[in-house]
Amino acid sequence: VTAGQQCDNCRKFGVSHAPGWLYLIALPPEMPSPLLAALGGVQSAEPLTFCCVRCVAEYAYVMAVAEAAGTEPQP
Ligand SMILES: [Zn+2]
Repeated sequence: VTAGQQCDNCRKFGVSHAPGWLYLIALPPEMPSPLLAALGGVQSAEPLTFCCVRCVAEYAYVMAVAEAAGTEPQP
């Protein structure tokens, strides 16, 4: 186990639970949307970690583009 965390977008390293970092937690399907929270302690096993809101937005954009590319509607 490493004593730190890494941004899932820009790969920046930081100390665990550093102030200002954000964690994106995947919720069960019955929940309407992902929960985005800047929490000191996260219960989820593998939350996505971001160093700033900009990285959250960039990551979400990349994911949206990838999803759109992989699920093109049939003609
Ligand atoms: Zn980052």
